[in-house]
Amino acid sequence: MDILRPNLPSPLQELVNADTRAAGIRLWIKRDDLIHPTVSGNKWRKLKYNLLEAQSQGFKSILTFGGAYSNHLYATAAAGYALDLHTVGIVRGDELADADNPTLTFCKDHGMDLHFVSRTEYRQRSDDAYLQELSGRFGHPFLIPEGGTTALALKGEAEMVSEIEDQLGGLPDYISTPAGTGGTAAGILSAGCQVMAFAALKNGLFLGNDIQTLVADYENRGSLVLLTDYHFGGYAKWKPELLAFMDQFKAEFDIQLEQVYTGKMFYGLFDLIKMGHFDRGASIVAVHTGGLQGLLRT
Ligand SMILES: *Cc1c(COP(=O)(O)O)cnc(C)c1O
Repeated sequence: MDILRPNLPSPLQELVNADTRAAGIRLWIKRDDLIHPTVSGNKWRKLKYNLLEAQSQGFKSILTFGGAYSNHLYATAAAGYALDLHTVGIVRGDELADADNPTLTFCKDHGMDLHFVSRTEYRQRSDDAYLQELSGRFGHPFLIPEGGTTALALKGEAEMVSEIEDQLGGLPDYISTPAGTGGTAAGILSAGCQVMAFAALKNGLFLGNDIQTLVADYENRGSLVLLTDYHFGGYAKWKPELLAFMDQFKAEFDIQLEQVYTGKMFYGLFDLIKMGHFDRGASIVAVHTGGLQGLLRT
């Protein structure tokens, strides 16, 4: 599959430090951040079959949804640009129309038509009537929901699990991922693995339901552990200790994380490792879901 020339399989690297040694566990990082320079990480995997479907049905344009920091809008704009598909982004927050925002500027520069809507209107993003109205207004594009989370996205994410299985010679005890809409976690679950999903937003308990709904039709699904206490104040919020952790991670492993998703997951994961949460001998693969375009530069 040569869509956008991905670097696949993405590398799997073992992470060893004093904490993993003391806990007697083995930890690997799945470098999905290296799949593609602009369609990065889980967004590449989630978009893959959606884009192929749009192309095979002959669509010339795609409409999707996202917020001001949306890696999904960014990835969709980049992919659409490369594949000659026109893209439309429905953006949450009408005040953003005049804001100077690097994510949205990138989208615009890559040909995406941005339409800013109020938060009230944005809440209708899954309602059939609203979608029909939007579809008519924008010339019947291929619709992709927020975060790219569809049944086709799960299929793309499940391929990551196969890669890991090949690379390790078997499945690990846990695959760990950050969660925004939960589509990535659902894709891993659908492939039969035990998932640790770290909510990147506040009050993330609802993600448990959303994820289970997404995998309801899969028979051999794995089990889900949802962690909701590592959100650092909410979506895209952060605290100095999170940035300090990311710096330390960079110094120790020479791998850059970002503060919206992957920094929070690794902070939480190492917190659990240090607390003795895992049995000795446990194996964990943590997914670097990408998103480095949104790295806060202080
Ligand atoms: C979008 C995103 C997530 C969240 O993925 P979901 O499938 O929506 O849970 C996690 N990490 C990064 C880097 C992302 O861009």
